[in-house]
Amino acid sequence: MKHELAPLPYRRDSLEPHISSETLDFHYAKHHQGYVDKLNALVEETEFADAQLEEIVRRSRGELFNNAAQVWNHTFYWNSLSPAGGGEPDGLLAQRVNTDFGGFEAFKDRFASAALGQFGSGWTWLVQRPDGSLAITATANAETPLTGTDAPLLTCDVWEHAYYVDRRNDRGAYLDAWWKLVNWQFAADNANLD
Ligand code: MN
Repeated sequence: MKHELAPLPYRRDSLEPHISSETLDFHYAKHHQGYVDKLNALVEETEFADAQLEEIVRRSRGELFNNAAQVWNHTFYWNSLSPAGGGEPDGLLAQRVNTDFGGFEAFKDRFASAALGQFGSGWTWLVQRPDGSLAITATANAETPLTGTDAPLLTCDVWEHAYYVDRRNDRGAYLDAWWKLVNWQFAADNANLD
């Protein structure tokens, strides 16, 4: 089975001025495409040749896992952003954020601490635990909540390739831009808020 690069859910220039089309030219069309190409090359002649992406992420190891997980994480990341995003969640998700973090500003501070505190490359996630509570987690390199029991709701890519074109080495400036694009509807759709 050949894996394909998922179409971006918006035009490459539609995250501007927060994230530039040049960043998308590299991050989506070069890095994300590169993981797809490596996954396709690596998966041939393995037990995962006909497996769905999620199964490869959950069960493989090593270089195959790294590329499969990066394909999945990046598609999830693009969906975590929206040209119409930003601001604060509303409805049941907002209530849950208030209950579990003590308010949106407290949540934002804790998410920023995780994102800025991640040493080296990785991802910061808003997840929902099996008991329904929300939590913030950090994963290194290609690691992903998909291999565990937490349901991912949102992610922020903190690999330097996500921001070096626009922000050089300033992860904090990139995170400020990320908040202006957060797709709260996507997060709410991924959550179980009953
Ligand atoms: Mn990336």
